[in-house]
Amino acid sequence: MGMGDAKGRAVSGCRGVTAPAAVIVVILLSMVWLLRHEGRVWWCECRTSRVWIGDVWTSHCSQHLSDPYSLTHLSHGLIFFGLLWPLRRRVGLSWRFVIAVGVASGWEVLENSTFIIERYRTVTMSLDYLGDSVVNSAGDVLCCALGFWAAWRLGLWRTVAVFVASEALLLVLIRDNLTLNVVMLAWPIEAVRAWQAAGH
Ligand SMILES: [Zn+2]
Repeated sequence: MGMGDAKGRAVSGCRGVTAPAAVIVVILLSMVWLLRHEGRVWWCECRTSRVWIGDVWTSHCSQHLSDPYSLTHLSHGLIFFGLLWPLRRRVGLSWRFVIAVGVASGWEVLENSTFIIERYRTVTMSLDYLGDSVVNSAGDVLCCALGFWAAWRLGLWRTVAVFVASEALLLVLIRDNLTLNVVMLAWPIEAVRAWQAAGH
């Protein structure tokens, strides 16, 4: 084996990351364009541009870069890694990562469509929900990407532990989490809604 082989491997190795990275850039730019097209603001209308909002019961929630709900997006990443795991023999890690980022970005666009916003406002605790800001959506996708990476590094059981801990923490902090989010969106339970409303 000569220098040419090593060089060839280095080039193909580089190309192996360049194409997925390019697709991710296109996905993120498309998401931003679609969110703006849907009428979402860049950052919170209060114009203080904060990185973290701890209190979810204010109009600043989902309008700045991150808040407790960002943890649910981290969990999305954990779950996506698990769901895409069976494809590992046919689809490489970097392309599975692209799929996760693509689904997360697509979800942000869907979540901020008029139809979903109206449904959120009528059946969940988010009565004055006006859709996320663009920077919040970008933060959510970043959290999902982080979750995917974390699941890859941690392995199954530590990933499950992180998921359970995150759900428990959110339940204590904000009386809401990913599980309740999904349940309440699909099949609202009045007792849960009342318990959530009593928390703030
Ligand atoms: Zn604000």
